[in-house]
Amino acid sequence: MKIALMRFLETREALAGVLQQTQLELYYQPQLDLRTGAVVGVEALLRWRRPGVGLLVPADFLDVAEESGLILPIGAWVLQQACRQAAAWRSAGWANLIMAVNLSAVQFRQGRVNEAVSAALADSGLPPENLELEITESILLQGEEAVLETLANWKQQGIRLAIDDFGTGYSSFGYLKRFGADKIKIDRSFIRDIHADVESPAIVQAMIQFARALRLRITAEGVETPAVAESLRRMGCGQVQGFLYARPMPAPELERWLRARDNPAQVLPSGEAT
Ligand code: C2E
Ligand code: MG
Ligand code: MG
Ligand code: MG
Repeated sequence: MKIALMRFLETREALAGVLQQTQLELYYQPQLDLRTGAVVGVEALLRWRRPGVGLLVPADFLDVAEESGLILPIGAWVLQQACRQAAAWRSAGWANLIMAVNLSAVQFRQGRVNEAVSAALADSGLPPENLELEITESILLQGEEAVLETLANWKQQGIRLAIDDFGTGYSSFGYLKRFGADKIKIDRSFIRDIHADVESPAIVQAMIQFARALRLRITAEGVETPAVAESLRRMGCGQVQGFLYARPMPAPELERWLRARDNPAQVLPSGEAT
C-alpha cells in the first residue's frame, strides 16, 4: 500500500507539470472500412513522453490523472489538440476524416466536459460532424440527467458518439438508442479470443447483428491477424482498428501512412454507413 501511495504521489507530482512542459503527445490510429479498406477516421491516443523515463501509455498514468483530477486540464488539452490536428488534415485534403477522442467518466462527473468540447471545436474550426467522442458504458450507467442532457446536446450539434469497450460493462442494447449512440466498439478481449473459445465468436456475431438492426455502426478493436479480419468480414462487421492495419502513430507518421496508402479522395464520405 505504501508503494502504491508513493507511486501515486510521485506520478501526480510529475504529471502536474506536463501541460506547461509539453510532455504530452497524441498518437493516432486509423479506423478502416473492412470491406473497402478505406480509411474512415483516426482515434487519438494519449502518450506521455516523460523525461528520464520514456514514452508512457495511458495504463501507466491515467488512473493517477483521474484520481487527482488532473484529467480535467489534460482532457481539455487532448480535445483541443485532436480537433486542431483534424482541422489541419481537413485543410490538407482529408475532408471526411473523423477524429475520435476518448473521454473519461471523471470528465463527466466533475462537469464542464461540455465546455471543453465546445471550446475545442470553436478554437479549431473543426465541423462537429468530424468529431466522434468515445465514452464507456460506465458513463451511461451513471444515468444522470446532466449526462443525458450533455449527450443530447452533442447529438444536436452533429457530434458523433461511440460506445467504447462495448461488452465489458453492463449496459443493454436498449441504452444505446436512448443515449443516441452512433457506433459501438467491440472490446478487444472478444476480438482477441474470437478463435480461442466458443463464446467469443457467438458474442461478436450477436453484437454485429444487433448493431445492424439498430442501424449503429460497429468497429472491432484490436484486430491483429488476417484470420481474425476474415472472421469479422464473414460476420458482417463494418469497421476495424488494430495492429494488423496500423499501430498508433505520431501525426507526421500517420500523414505519411495516409499518403502512401491511398489518395485523399478515397476517404469515405462521413455519412456513409459501414
Ligand atoms: P481504447 O480507447 O479502447 O483504445 C484502444 C487501445 O488499444 C489503445 O491503447 C491502442 O493502442 C490499443 N490497440 C489498438 N489496436 C490494438 C491491437 O491490435 N492489439 C493490441 N494489443 N492493442 C491495440 P492505448 O493507447 O494504450 O490506450 C489505452 C486506453 O487508454 C484507451 O483504450 C482509452 O480507454 C484510454 N485513453 C487513451 N487516450 C486517452 C485520452 O486521451 N483520454 C482518456 N480519457 N483516455 C484515453
Ligand atoms: Mg477508445
Ligand atoms: Mg476500446
Ligand atoms: Mg479501453
